[in-house]
Amino acid sequence: MIASRGKLDEILKYNEEFVKNQEYKQYETSSRPDKKVVILSCMDTRLTDLLPKSMNLRNGDAKIVKNAGAAIMHPFGSIMRSIVVAIYEFDVEEVLVVGHHGCGMCNLDTDDLLNKVLDRGIPNETIDTLSNAGINVKGWLHGFESVEQSIEDSVSLIKNHPLVPNDIIIHGLVISPETGKIDVVVDGYNNK
Ligand SMILES: [Zn+2]
Repeated sequence: MIASRGKLDEILKYNEEFVKNQEYKQYETSSRPDKKVVILSCMDTRLTDLLPKSMNLRNGDAKIVKNAGAAIMHPFGSIMRSIVVAIYEFDVEEVLVVGHHGCGMCNLDTDDLLNKVLDRGIPNETIDTLSNAGINVKGWLHGFESVEQSIEDSVSLIKNHPLVPNDIIIHGLVISPETGKIDVVVDGYNNK
């Protein structure tokens, strides 16, 4: 598949105007989060603006880390590294894990996904080679059965992480991708 140049050209053209018109001025801030929070959320497109707007977060207020599912897959993976750096280098005091209803990683059909991988020309042997190297591709792609459970698991992983100090408060929240309504799954103030 040969990608047309359209998307990048469109972005660069817009960008030139954005900088020329000094539209960045309204976003000027520092790299230190004013509200001293780091948020882990999902890459879902519906949350791009909705999440910060519904939480009253402006540019400069929070560190925001995102992945597929807002779940921490590995205690020493890149998400946990981001959270640890946010705590020690950027004076973060509270962590908010914000999952959402209707998440694509909830009950993800990994058989179907793997078929798509094969359909796109990745050979079966590649999957076999990975399995032989101890990488369970299906398990690695697998999401979760319950978003609330996944949020609780991530909160508990952060809380019990050997590099996270005891005074850090960790909350678990679930947001509606339609209305932005937030429900508390784990209230970090009561979970010390
Ligand atoms: Zn999601």
